Amino acid sequence: MRLSGRVALVTGGSRGIGRAICEALADAGAAVAINYQGSERAAREVAREIAEAGGIADIFQADVSERDAVQRMKKQVLARFGRVDLLVNNAGITRDRTFVRMDEEAWAAVLSVNLNGVFYCTKAFLDGMLERGYGRIVHISSIVGQIGNLGQANYAAAKAALLGFTKTLAKELATKGITVNAVAPGFIETEMVAAVPEEIRGKIVTQIPMRRLGTPQEVAKAVVFLVSDEASYITGQTLNVNGGMYA
Ligand code: NAD
Repeated sequence: MRLSGRVALVTGGSRGIGRAICEALADAGAAVAINYQGSERAAREVAREIAEAGGIADIFQADVSERDAVQRMKKQVLARFGRVDLLVNNAGITRDRTFVRMDEEAWAAVLSVNLNGVFYCTKAFLDGMLERGYGRIVHISSIVGQIGNLGQANYAAAKAALLGFTKTLAKELATKGITVNAVAPGFIETEMVAAVPEEIRGKIVTQIPMRRLGTPQEVAKAVVFLVSDEASYITGQTLNVNGGMYA
């Protein structure tokens, strides 16, 4: 299998896109550390499903926006699996409102999970990758970081920042055996998008050339490709998975 012998960590892996990424990585042969923040039961369910399909997975609690929590998770993951070869920074939140109504708390909350969380997790696991001279890092950005979206100034800022971070880290690590890429999903059928009012979702679909939302599995396949050996010469890139919405 493409990823056998590799160890992956997926943040926010208990549901939605993160869950699909955990399943797809396990399906490709990787052992998967599933990070979750609060939903232990859902995370256990993902791990159980992976084990039933013959894969290897375990669950690790941490709020990625807290440096100390990430450091504790690092110790637990290393005690269980020995290392992390593939890091997928997927955890993310939204706190939508127009910028005029957006308070500092909503701004800070989104930046703290979607951007600082990526900083803490990448910091935590990069040293091991450098020691071994091998690593694959994928950030889950968003089409919103590329084209903007009403009511999402905080989210767009964080997701756009990830793209600059991806390019810079890719350049710094290019000779170290570590690739760094981003996946920018369009609108995907998850609880995050289910929270968008029906009427607005209908309007969004009319702007998608494929006239449908994407599935978490379609995003997961792009991640599996980027962490596989097939993508060995790809770094600093953003892979758009958006049904043609931004081209
Ligand atoms: P989701 O809300 O279903 O899942 C997000 C996951 O992140 C959840 O498991 C949640 O518990 C976890 N999480 C949130 N805060 C956390 C924290 N502080 N620490 C650890 N985990 C935390 O959303 P999703 O749609 O599956 O989104 C996954 C990623 O994809 C996010 O980064 C999101 O911004 C991005 N994305 C989603 C879409 C979409 O249309 N659904 C589009 C583009 C990008």
